[in-house]
Amino acid sequence: MKNAQCKKCLNKFLEKDIYTIQQFQYREEPPYKWSIDYFKKIGIGEWDSFCEKCILEYSKESLDSWNKSKI
Ligand SMILES: [Zn+2]
Repeated sequence: MKNAQCKKCLNKFLEKDIYTIQQFQYREEPPYKWSIDYFKKIGIGEWDSFCEKCILEYSKESLDSWNKSKI
């Protein structure tokens, strides 16, 4: 049953396919603490659910922002 909902696109999907920003603690860059602050600013917490497509977008956006902040 599709009873999970993506906070970004509002699509419904399977609970086992939920992604959260917690998965970003496994990327090398940016540091997880930076990611937490970045997402807090745009109103996203560690327990918000997202579909795969949206978490990939956030992944890219946050990495772009991180790269710009280093210049
Ligand atoms: Zn989504």
